[in-house]
Amino acid sequence: MTERTPEQNAQEPETVLEVTDLKKHFPVTAGLFSKTVGHVYAVDGVSFTVRKGETLGLVGESGCGKSTVGKTIMRLIEPTDGSIKIRGKEITRVTGEALRNYRREMQIVFQDPYSSLNPRMSAGDIVGEALENYGIARGKEKERQVEALFDRVGLRKEHMLKYPHEFSGGQRQRLGIARALALNPSLIVADEPVSALDVSVQAQVINLLMDLQEEFNLTFLFISHDLAVVEHISHRIAVMYLGKIVEVTDKTTLFKMPLHPYSEALLSAVPIPDPTMRRERIILQGDVPSPINPPSGCRFHTRCPYAVERCRAEEPPLQEVAPGHIVACHLRDIGAAPVKLERTQTAAVAAE
Ligand code: SF4
Repeated sequence: MTERTPEQNAQEPETVLEVTDLKKHFPVTAGLFSKTVGHVYAVDGVSFTVRKGETLGLVGESGCGKSTVGKTIMRLIEPTDGSIKIRGKEITRVTGEALRNYRREMQIVFQDPYSSLNPRMSAGDIVGEALENYGIARGKEKERQVEALFDRVGLRKEHMLKYPHEFSGGQRQRLGIARALALNPSLIVADEPVSALDVSVQAQVINLLMDLQEEFNLTFLFISHDLAVVEHISHRIAVMYLGKIVEVTDKTTLFKMPLHPYSEALLSAVPIPDPTMRRERIILQGDVPSPINPPSGCRFHTRCPYAVERCRAEEPPLQEVAPGHIVACHLRDIGAAPVKLERTQTAAVAAE
């Protein structure tokens, strides 16, 4: 696979996606009349930007809210609060024709393409449908464009006549990518796009996404729990924990010097490809708390090996502690010396 550099992204600094204080709270209902008795705080005040031509990786454990962020940005589910801007235009509350127009600019590639592909439509029709619906191409011209898209994602012309069940998992994901590309979107949200695939096929699909990005200067929000994949494809990475972003920085800095204790623990589980090197593995104690009743103060304090009294009472704000490096942790307050943290609670530590 070809390695990317942050410099490639710097050529086009336009902000494609700007998310500010995004919230998605799902009501919890009970009783005969479905009375709301609480909320699941799935996404609770998330802010980040994605620049043109870059891939922002969004990582975190299962249930942290990362896929809900993706679906809310796509307006597949309605946000509770906050703001979503695509190329500077507010789309948080748009409806009808305006939403339809913005949907053209944002496409999603799902984890399981099979469930998102109409089993009764041929592959060619699936990809051509959007071209026709948006009045981009019809008839022979549509066929020509679909053929070109198939060719670009590594599918053959004869595949256009096949149905989704006749494809392998990797081919179906290529079909999903072709469909996403058809409308030349400003942003592609890739939600765990390779986690259901075999490892060898994962590499092919990741390579394809990176090649397409280079060729068409695509912008990706890449959602995954797999840090090795995210490290490979992303320029910057945002780490999520229990509905909040806790750290954002470029991938090199994050993997060399994570500043948030949660990022530190997550990254300690990633194998180092050099067999002569060892990394201290931090195994966090306890389960992720329920998003229905998240902990007070810093949400990570129940599992954080460095937690102090202040962490239980006061929520740490996201602060830029170094250029482009944003962290939400009291121990990393602006102006604080870059100390080596001392653990205050037991965390299992193992040498790999
Ligand atoms: Fe840990 Fe406190 Fe920092 Fe939260 S604010 S990550 S509990 S040290």
